[in-house]
Amino acid sequence: MLKIERLHASMLIVLLALAPTALVAQEADTVYVNGIVHTVDEAFSKASAFAVKDGEFIYVGDDAGARSHVGPLTFVVDLAGKTVIPGLHDAHLHIRFGERELYPRIPDIRQTLGEWASVERMQEVVRQSLATGAGMRPGPEPRWLVLRGWMSDVWEPPAWQKELIDAVAPDNPVYIIRYTHGSAANSKALELAGITANTPDPEGGHIKKDENGEPTGEFVERAPPALLNLIPPLPPLTNYELSRNLVEGTQLAVASGLTTLHGASSGTSYDDVMRELNLYEVGLLRVRINQMVNVDAAKRMGGPLNYDNRLFVQSVKTLLDGALGSRGAHFLEEYADYPDFYGEPRSSEDQTTATAIDLLKIGFNMRIHTIGDGANRIALNAFEAALQQSGKDGRDVRFALEHAQVLTPEDIPRLAELGVIASMQPLHATEDMHFAEARLGAERLKGAYIWKTLLENDVVVATGTDYSVSPYNPFYTLHAAVTRQDRDNNPPGGWIPEGALSREEALYAATMAGAYTMHAEDILGSIEIGKLVEIRKLPVPVTFTLKIEGLIITVTDRCIVAIAAGRAKPSVTVKVEGVTILKEELPTIDLPLEMKLQAEDAQTA
Ligand SMILES: [Zn+2]
Repeated sequence: MLKIERLHASMLIVLLALAPTALVAQEADTVYVNGIVHTVDEAFSKASAFAVKDGEFIYVGDDAGARSHVGPLTFVVDLAGKTVIPGLHDAHLHIRFGERELYPRIPDIRQTLGEWASVERMQEVVRQSLATGAGMRPGPEPRWLVLRGWMSDVWEPPAWQKELIDAVAPDNPVYIIRYTHGSAANSKALELAGITANTPDPEGGHIKKDENGEPTGEFVERAPPALLNLIPPLPPLTNYELSRNLVEGTQLAVASGLTTLHGASSGTSYDDVMRELNLYEVGLLRVRINQMVNVDAAKRMGGPLNYDNRLFVQSVKTLLDGALGSRGAHFLEEYADYPDFYGEPRSSEDQTTATAIDLLKIGFNMRIHTIGDGANRIALNAFEAALQQSGKDGRDVRFALEHAQVLTPEDIPRLAELGVIASMQPLHATEDMHFAEARLGAERLKGAYIWKTLLENDVVVATGTDYSVSPYNPFYTLHAAVTRQDRDNNPPGGWIPEGALSREEALYAATMAGAYTMHAEDILGSIEIGKLVEIRKLPVPVTFTLKIEGLIITVTDRCIVAIAAGRAKPSVTVKVEGVTILKEELPTIDLPLEMKLQAEDAQTA
């Protein structure tokens, strides 16, 4: 386990030396006893109780110690042997995409996030859309149909072919966005756009062609503008809709147990930040956000933002390549299943270095999307040059590789040397396992999805979901990190099981490492004196609830967790002691009355 310096720890020693009795006598607002508290402190110690005052932990330890903080007005909560963990972070997700789930403007051919549609399902959705008009764009006939969500690697053969859609939509142009980083079209769309065997690749994209040189209909990364420009655009979302989607989307995330979201959309603008700020000011955003922004927003802000420890803005998000599945990732060697193709980097090392240096001057760092070993190399080189030229210590700056999916053996030690964080998504491994070896080959696969190896190399590994690429539920991530299995517990024994984290490492990556990534390790990430607390009731989401050694619950920062009580019927439970997902119907859990009351109070507070 890697050690992170904690300023507050040394401060605490000073306080104890100066005024030990003051701490003992302090009356708490609430004292929680009789729980199993995984503190995620440096020693990963367990406690049974903690005391809270003014939104901070003032005591963490045993029941007797906690009870010494009980005064006449202190509320005491009996946790009844339930588990308490620090508030969970999602170190990389796309918050605005809440709109995809709640108010989808482009129908998704998948039934559920993280699951793949068959060819038959895709064809059925196309057929229905043509009949009902769902996903049809306005405009003259033949009207365009735009859908999203295909992934061909689970098909047989595992490749997009325009004929699949021609069979059900011969007369209308159809354009279907891949689940990430790519898209595809049918013959009618290619014909209208004039895309033929002779059409060159667009900038930042690639037109897939078959052995005869004919376009298959698939576009890697950016599709040709000649086609995109023909599709009537959707009207832009109004400010009201954007705000609504943010508020309601983040409520879903909170309901799943998350307390801090690292918003990773590279296009996040100054106006987007102002919208979030306004929503916090009127109390509508109830989750902490560490928002990455675009370069323009950072420059306009002129420096990092910390609004009331609720909204943090300190990083610029950019992309250096695309995704592995779509072959948009940039590699040093050719794709194992697509000869002579390396994927294109989206920016040069010089450009990236210059951007990083500019941003360091105003106190911003960079978190760069890097999947292929080529993209990771460019980012590491740029980070190294920027640190050198600006004379900064990498451990203070905390650049991050977002995904850090495939690394060469030479580059692995460089992350720790440069203080670069690996922001990784365990669910991507259990989704990509269907095609990763085909793309990479056996040798290069050894450097892929290597959270464990990076930890062993003293790298800070923070975990997230990349929602809406994968479901935002943090317990799926914990499960995948520890088992290397998908949600159906496949494959048996796990995919490359030696890459699995221990339960403690996985919990650390989902809590302290997230806090460290956002320079907030002194106030978030663990259950320790001086850190922020907010106990919040965890509403039971529709399909899912969590059960950790009993009930749930809690913790850190001003957000936390909670209590899966409920009337709703949980269908999936995750057990952190042993992290296994039990896919079974659980009986409804009934909480003791006083806990319910406390939970409801906390929610409305
Ligand atoms: Zn992402």
